Amino acid sequence: MAYTMNTPTWTDVHCHLQDPMFGNQLTEVFRRSETFSITRWIVNGTCPSDWAAVAHLAKTHEGVIPQFGVHPWNAEGVDTDWEYRLREMLVRFPKGGVGEIGLDRKLTPVPIGLQMEQCRSQLELALELNRCCTLHVVGAWQELEELLKDPLPDRWLLHSFGGSPEQAEQYAAKGAFFTLGGATLRQSEETLRRLLEAIPFGQLMLETDAPFQHPEGKDRMQEPAGLLRIAERIANLKDISVERLRAQTEDNLSRYLRPS
Ligand SMILES: [Zn+2]
Repeated sequence: MAYTMNTPTWTDVHCHLQDPMFGNQLTEVFRRSETFSITRWIVNGTCPSDWAAVAHLAKTHEGVIPQFGVHPWNAEGVDTDWEYRLREMLVRFPKGGVGEIGLDRKLTPVPIGLQMEQCRSQLELALELNRCCTLHVVGAWQELEELLKDPLPDRWLLHSFGGSPEQAEQYAAKGAFFTLGGATLRQSEETLRRLLEAIPFGQLMLETDAPFQHPEGKDRMQEPAGLLRIAERIANLKDISVERLRAQTEDNLSRYLRPS
């Protein structure tokens, strides 16, 4: 379905539909997503070896917006020419973004120094090519502070934001976009309400992180069709209609995607 401002469609702003976990179910996954009017997907690469699969999805499925990057968990395994190859992918896809990149002190043993080095190079590339950029930050807020001292790409997103309301305010003031996703459904009402008060509505978007972050736990596979449950909870806590949330987050996304 072609996207126009008049069509009430949703976008899953962060997922990994190239993940081999989807296997031969992918056609059904897209079909279920479209049934719920979720017709665009920002598909994030995680290492040079999955970029071709991301590129293939972008070429074969209307509505897939590709991003290419080295995820902090994969920082150690990449070949030395990864930066050259990343630039090549971004040149091939002028509308593609940089992601998923980031910093993680909790969920991976990869040395934080190496993560910082790779994250910095990828932020620099996004800045140079004027691309949007998606970051995963877990337990490494001080390191993020360090990187934020350098000039940043105009459009950057803290995906599945796991910081405090105070941090949300601080990064919002620096121009960050935020996505909330599956983990949102596991948070208490109070925690989530405070976070939603801190994130400016004009900087909020929604994601599933599929196939990860299924709200019922790690042994289940999330898919983009799960986006509406997340939307319903957020709309409920913000005391607005789901349609109002959809319209605002889609408008925010157009600013995230549009080069300045
Ligand atoms: Zn992700």
